[in-house]
Amino acid sequence: MGEFIHTNFPIKVNPSNYLKIKNIIPSNVNILAVSKGFKSQEIKIIHKIGQNDFGESKFQEAFEKKLILKELTQIKWHFIGRIQSNKIRKIVKNFQYIHSVDSFEKLKKISNISCEEKQNPQLMLQVKLSDDPSKGGFDPKLLISRWMEIKEFKNITLKGLMTINPKGLSSKENANLFKKCRSLADLLQLPDCSMGMSDDWEEAIDAGSTWVRLGSLIFGDRF
Ligand SMILES: *Cc1c(COP(=O)(O)O)cnc(C)c1O
Repeated sequence: MGEFIHTNFPIKVNPSNYLKIKNIIPSNVNILAVSKGFKSQEIKIIHKIGQNDFGESKFQEAFEKKLILKELTQIKWHFIGRIQSNKIRKIVKNFQYIHSVDSFEKLKKISNISCEEKQNPQLMLQVKLSDDPSKGGFDPKLLISRWMEIKEFKNITLKGLMTINPKGLSSKENANLFKKCRSLADLLQLPDCSMGMSDDWEEAIDAGSTWVRLGSLIFGDRF
């Protein structure tokens, strides 16, 4: 089977970038290496130097890489992309973590399908903390008001909240949104916050992130 990505492009991943970041990040913060747009070969290189968690945002692309890398059984796959309802079964069967659960209906469907498939994915609920029209997520008020109901859902492990900040914010604006996410997670007694990407991970860690999702910082620019 062919690689999903343009096979002829050179490998761009730089292991020393990864090791540098790994060294400065506090030990309670996990790195999710976001490998979307990169090849299985590049995942292998980063895995070899100690990274087990990889994030992908498109099911088909991830599935093809998973097949190629199936011998690397320590790898944990995280789904971070927009969830299409008709792909939920495939996502539940193939990912240990889902960071991008963005509505009550999808959460409910994930729980139902996880019961049928005897799975128990670790979930982050995506919250919408600014009115960026390009980003989905739970309205914080709705999340709080339906929390008792949500906690009853079977065959899912609610680990935390996830947020994606709009592009172009100042460092301070980024920090404020991340703090909002952390406070909401604390209120709901959730341990994890999946927040911070290559451009804003420092603010995210200061605000209490436990998972930074790093793509270009580790793998280089996407095409
Ligand atoms: C692509 C992506 C990332 C990583 O982005 P970089 O800026 O390359 O670090 C993180 N989170 C989500 C949800 C993404 O889609």
